[in-house]
Amino acid sequence: MPATRLTVLAGGVGGARFVRGLRAAARAAAVPPEITVVANTGDDLWLAGLRVTPDLDSLLYALAGVNDEQRGWGRAGETERVSGELAAYGVGWPWFTLGDLDLGTHIARTALLKDGLPLSAVVERLAARWPIGVRLLPATDDEVETHVAVVEDGEERELHFEEWWVRTRAKVPARAFLQPGAEHSSPAPGVLEAIGEADVVLLAPSNPVVSIGTILGIPGIRDAVTSTRAPVVGVSPVIRGAVVRGMADACLSAIGVETSAAAVARHYGARASGGLLDGWLVDLADADAVPGLEADGLATRAVPLWMHDEATSAAIATAALDLAGTFARR
Ligand code: GDP
Ligand code: CA
Repeated sequence: MPATRLTVLAGGVGGARFVRGLRAAARAAAVPPEITVVANTGDDLWLAGLRVTPDLDSLLYALAGVNDEQRGWGRAGETERVSGELAAYGVGWPWFTLGDLDLGTHIARTALLKDGLPLSAVVERLAARWPIGVRLLPATDDEVETHVAVVEDGEERELHFEEWWVRTRAKVPARAFLQPGAEHSSPAPGVLEAIGEADVVLLAPSNPVVSIGTILGIPGIRDAVTSTRAPVVGVSPVIRGAVVRGMADACLSAIGVETSAAAVARHYGARASGGLLDGWLVDLADADAVPGLEADGLATRAVPLWMHDEATSAAIATAALDLAGTFARR
């Protein structure tokens, strides 16, 4: 593994599984590379007076090894006493349970934000509690949240992404995803440098629309990816025409992208034709997509893409780095 600076764009759960594998692969190298993770902040929200940052927390907890593996989100060994009290007062969203340990994180984050720290500094402070082994950066310090335009009960409404995702389970068709104020936002300190000065840039197998798409929507980030000298390699979150966990297919259909590994690759686009990607990994089950993507100018490899555990995630990360290694820095 000759690359020394790796930068990953990542959402929450899919992103965290991938980054854990990448960290394991990096630790096995003779000279372990530095890993910077640029995390989606579009799911962030104010709830019960607290700033909640779901994807940053999924990454933080998983990298710290304190996440709930079974449930897939939140802290292990969690209790929900405080949420019951909040519900009794009618504060917050009854369908959006915040665990007690998780609330500790949200209180600490909110306190630091109220002290005047930008989110990136807050994340650094929270992450310092654990040896997470990577640099974790929010895509932006600005409060840019993803909203979903829907028609519900005959009424046009704009829901916060988390309300659409958790309350409606993405069952109410999304008409559009909006990021009000995104045009006035800027990348958090270090984000553009991490992309521009990386040896390899990786797109985690995260939601292409509301995780990776939202990160790329912060002005300057997409340009940093298209102009970096580093090879850019992505990992498909879609296997055999279905998203592996969750409901990201509802996001893809909303923007008119088919749920297939090839369609997601074409959505990101080959760098050779103005898109983002030099390389793309699909699952073995999607090997038939390889020749068509290669013909489009996208170097594509088929490898097992199920992230069952750290070892399988590390093998995917190694395959992504191997593919990146076939390209010279430009
Ligand atoms: P979220 O923010 O928690 O929704 O997580 P992400 O956006 O980071 O990732 C969600 C995506 O991860 C889903 O759309 C899945 O398709 C993908 N994903 C989850 N588990 C796996 C896996 O084992 N393999 C692959 N290739 N993708 C996965
Ligand atoms: Ca998310």
